[in-house]
Amino acid sequence: MDSEVAIAVRDLRKSYGGTAAVDGLDLDVRRGEVFALLGPNGAGKTTTVEILEGYRRRDAGDVRVLGVDPAAPTADWRSRVGIVLQGTGEFDELTVREVVGHFAGFYPAADDPDKVIEQVGLAGKARARTHSLSGGQRRRLDVALGIVGRPELLFLDEPTTGFDPEARREFWDLIRDLAAAGTTIVLTTHYLDEAETLADRVGVIAGGRLVEVAPPDRLGNREDALATVSWRTPDGGWERAESATPTALVAELAARFGGEVPGLTVTRPTLEDVYLRMIGHR
Ligand code: ATP
Repeated sequence: MDSEVAIAVRDLRKSYGGTAAVDGLDLDVRRGEVFALLGPNGAGKTTTVEILEGYRRRDAGDVRVLGVDPAAPTADWRSRVGIVLQGTGEFDELTVREVVGHFAGFYPAADDPDKVIEQVGLAGKARARTHSLSGGQRRRLDVALGIVGRPELLFLDEPTTGFDPEARREFWDLIRDLAAAGTTIVLTTHYLDEAETLADRVGVIAGGRLVEVAPPDRLGNREDALATVSWRTPDGGWERAESATPTALVAELAARFGGEVPGLTVTRPTLEDVYLRMIGHR
């Protein structure tokens, strides 16, 4: 096993009642990278991730996660893998501090619960009972439980669903901190901006297969796509042109206008544009 590889998957297959949910999926995640899995509803993301986490059985294929087959997980392996589920159990009568402290007890080299509570932005709620938390605070607690064991590899399933914009930014900072400290992170998300800002590479799953893997700015040959240049015309209307050489076009417009080009914008397809095209084509 290559020590640079955190996850290696070959020809993964899983069917439910004869219908393939995962249909020959290959995937490699490098150690230390943030890898985002994108894909439409029902594409097979959760099934894949749960197989990697050791919570679902595969029908076929080779899978190694931190060098171990997750179908035969060891206690040591479990302690090296952190999982943030969507809503971790119910501990309504316990406080945030009690729950995080309780989970810390499951791990051989757990982090300080108070530090983790601070890290996820719940310091002000440490003594609150979990039933009194808002939805977004509850997700932060889920994250605290996923990282208190100081995992080498962290799985995050749609981590910021229900977060307000400020909470999302804070959460992104937390993920960046964890990544900077060397944690390998695999996240599923439906938010393209989240994938773009966090991920070193994104993988698009459709129909149970990985259809493309690339850094967010390269997905679908994005950076080679035509740029759209638009500007305001002297009569107050708008004009737009697609160009492979937008710099030259802008220079030409600047000469034509004798200086500043009114209302000038130059855009390339967003990650969302490219993603939707990719999914739509299937
Ligand atoms: P979403 O974005 O909606 O979470 P997903 O990409 O995570 O979707 P999966 O949950 O992996 O998709 O589902 C893939 C396919 O497998 C879907 O067609 C789903 O209906 C089916 N499926 C998933 N889990 C089960 C199950 N336990 N029993 C039967 N079918 C299932």
